[in-house]
Order: sequence, then C-alpha cells, then structure tokens
Amino acid sequence: MLEELYQKVVAKDPAQPEFHQAVKEVLESIEVVLDRHPEYRKAKIAERIVEPERVIMFRVPWVDDQGEVHVNRGFRIEMNSAIGPYKGGLRFHPSVNLGILKFLAFEQVFKNALTTIPMGGGKGGSDFNPKGKSDIEVMRFTQSFMSELFRHIGPSTDVPAGDIGVGGREIGFLFGQYKKLRNEWGGVLTGKGLSYGGSLIRPEATGYGAVYFGEEMLKTRGETYDGKVCLVSGSGNVAQYATEKINELGGKVVTLSDSSGCIYDPEGIDTDKLSFVMNLKNVRRGRIKEYAEKYPSAVYTAIDPTLDYNPLWNYKADCAFPSATQNEINAKDAQNLINNGVYLVSEGANMPTVPDGVEIFLQHKILYGPGKAANAGGVATSGLEMAQNAMFSSWSREEVDTKLHNIMISIHRQAFEAAEKYGDPGNYVLGANAAGFVKVAEAMMAQGVV
Ligand code: NDP
Repeated sequence: MLEELYQKVVAKDPAQPEFHQAVKEVLESIEVVLDRHPEYRKAKIAERIVEPERVIMFRVPWVDDQGEVHVNRGFRIEMNSAIGPYKGGLRFHPSVNLGILKFLAFEQVFKNALTTIPMGGGKGGSDFNPKGKSDIEVMRFTQSFMSELFRHIGPSTDVPAGDIGVGGREIGFLFGQYKKLRNEWGGVLTGKGLSYGGSLIRPEATGYGAVYFGEEMLKTRGETYDGKVCLVSGSGNVAQYATEKINELGGKVVTLSDSSGCIYDPEGIDTDKLSFVMNLKNVRRGRIKEYAEKYPSAVYTAIDPTLDYNPLWNYKADCAFPSATQNEINAKDAQNLINNGVYLVSEGANMPTVPDGVEIFLQHKILYGPGKAANAGGVATSGLEMAQNAMFSSWSREEVDTKLHNIMISIHRQAFEAAEKYGDPGNYVLGANAAGFVKVAEAMMAQGVV
C-alpha cells in the first residue's frame, strides 16, 4: 500500500475515518497499477487524487413551523473534474459531516469514471434531518440551502442529485429555487420530476443497476436469479427498486429495514407488498415496522444497540443487496452471511461493508460487487438525464433501461477484465478501483498539473 501517502491523509484530517477507509481501499488496489505506470507516480496522480479540488461549507439558516430559527451546515465537495463536471448526490441526514461527504465524493470519482459517461466526482449535503419535518419546513430548508449552493453549481460545472434524505420532493424544491435565483432553466440537478426535465428510469436506476450487476456476476458461474433468496437492507429508493427488479428476474426478497429495525418475510416481498412499502415510505413516511403489522407472515426485529451484529444479515439466503448506508455490514455480519449460504453480495449502498468484512468476502471468493461498481447505475442514468436535457429531448422507458442495462454490463466487464489484468481474477474491488483510477489518471496526465 502507499503507506506514506495514506499516513499523510490521516495526519492532515485525523477526524475523518470514513474518508481514510475509502482512501485506504483505493490505495491498496492501485499500487500494482502505479508499478506498471511509473509516469503516474512521477506526476503525483495519487497525491492529487486524494485532495479535493474544492470544498465549500456554508451556513443554512431556516425557520420551522413554530417560528423558531434553526442553523444547519451545508457542504459541497468538488473532488475531481478531470473527466467531466462534478457529479454526485446531496445527502440530508443528521450524521452528515465533512469526512463522510469526502468519502462519498472520493468514491464517486472512480464510480463515475466506470460509467464511461464524462462526469467528474462530487458530493454534498447537510446535517439537516428531514424526518418528522413538514413539507413546508423541508421547502424552507432546501430553499435556504440552495440560496448559497446556486453560485457554485451549473450544468457544465457541478450537477448534484439525490442521496439519503434527498428524493423527488427535495430535488423539486432545490430546482425551483435554483431557477428562481439564476433566472434560467438548466439541467443543473438530476433526479428531477418527469414534468420538468427528469428522465424515465432515474428513480429505479440505482436499485435496478445493482441487480443487473449481480446478474452479470452470476453469469460468470452460468447462473441466474431464478429461485434465489435475497436479503435487501434499507427501504428507501435503492432498496425499493432493487426489490422490484429481483422480483422481475425470478428471485425472492425476504428482508427490508430502516434505521429502527428490520422485517423478515419468508414468503417473499411480492409486487403487492412492495407497493405497500413504497406508499409507506414515499408517501406516508412511516416506519418499516408497519409491514409486520400488516402482513402476518413477517416478523419485525427492532435494532438492538447491544448486539454486535445485524440480525438482517443472519437469515438463510443466496444473495445480499445492502442498500441502506455505509458500514452496515461488519466483520461478524460478513461471516454470518457466508455461514448462511450467501455467495453473492451486490452493494446498492456506498461502502456498506467494513474492510474486515470485505476481506472475508474476498477470502471466500464469493461474487462480491463493491458499491462503486454495483451502484453506478444511478449516476449513469443521471448522466443520461443530463444528455436528454442538453438535447431538449427525452427517451422512452425502454430506451433508458436498455442504456442502463448496457452500462452495467460494461462496468462489470471493465472491473472483471481489470481484475484479471492486475493479477487477481474475480476480485471486483481491485478491478473497479484499477479501471476507474486509470481512466481518471489518463485524463489528469493529459491536462497537466492543475
Ligand atoms: P433513502 O433515504 O431513500 O433510503 C435510505 C434507507 O436506509 C432508509 O430505509 C433509511 O432508514 C436507511 N438508513 C439510512 N441511514 C441509516 C442508518 N444510519 N442506519 C440504518 N438504516 C439507515 O436513500 P437511498 O436509497 O437513496 O440511499 C441508500 C444508499 O444507497 C446510500 O448509501 C446511498 O449513498 C447509496 N446510493 C444511492 C444512490 C441513489 O441514486 N439514490 C446512488 C448510489 C448510491 P430511515 O427510513 O429510518 O431513514
């Protein structure tokens, strides 16, 4: 590993453990690439790639329904623009801080490179908690957030999208405020509603993409999803559409969760039950516990902070799709997954597995698709939304889905081939990191020291 560089990153920003974790994984993978490309070492590509091009931090004051003033912190990390405008989501969650957004922006750089669409990497958000807030409070907050962010973004500069806590409602408010301040309609955000420039399939894309990526991994063993039992975590955007696609391809999803607990339904979360979940989470904004109250075949397990493992990863299954948040699979969970027969993990969430857990997956040589490859379908379809906006045109559902599917096949192929090329066939962590890094490194080499 590039130990010296890693130690410098840690020393410079000691309070950013998630960022250190993401950097370490990439540095471990690219050592072999740098050995074959001494010109990258000379140009200090690795040293430059770990340093954001720009970090924006700002105050977000807003007034709640009782007239009380609140102050949150807003961020946008513009990590790397070598291959295109900064691109990456906005996260609204109380846990948001600079280190978490830097990890997400860093991952985004390599992920976006793998999509083959010209997009650089960025990420942003706020420690605002949308839970329990009225629609009007969310609108006031997002308008205040955009009142600062608007001067830093633009269709060819930086194009944010959604992430945890930022869905269709928030993107609508953000877009409206941007348009008002700029007096200009532009494709400055993706994940927009269909009536104002959104793309068909964008809401579905991350979940569908993670399932398509898994399908490609299964194909390397001559298998399909038919009859496979699948564990999905989360119950938000990614989890919902991963479940929809798994059902469509013949698999059976038996779990979902939220930050309060998980449900296990051995009979499977079929189309009707999924509609209930979508209404519960997207419209009523309720808790997943209600699923078990409605469907007697399901059991609900509340989060128990005294446990050192997550019960969701301890059910018998074939495949797992972590789709909630970072570090949701610890080493014990990873071992539980293996012990319960899981041999495919396709990550819908960003960095959901801790490094020791990743090591367990790699040692057991299961089909393990890391988030930066497996969940790239979301940002890829955001790229397709940008293309449609630039053309003042829109593609049909089938066209976008076919393009998304082909992009996921291509990402799988790039990661698969790079793993072989750099000496560890089947290791998609190495493959995704190496393939993404080389693409960005080549662009940085061509553009000089900037
Ligand atoms: P949503 O906000 O739609 O859903 C997130 C889900 O995860 C909710 O069920 C939420 O529970 C749960 N969750 C969030 N934080 C925690 C936590 N700390 N502990 C336990 N559960 C938690 O977000 P998305 O579905 O969009 O995002 C999920 C993951 O996918 C994230 O890692 C995101 O970065 C990644 N991702 C998303 C993309 C997208 O296009 N949306 C693209 C690529 C990656 P609750 O309802 O209680 O909050």
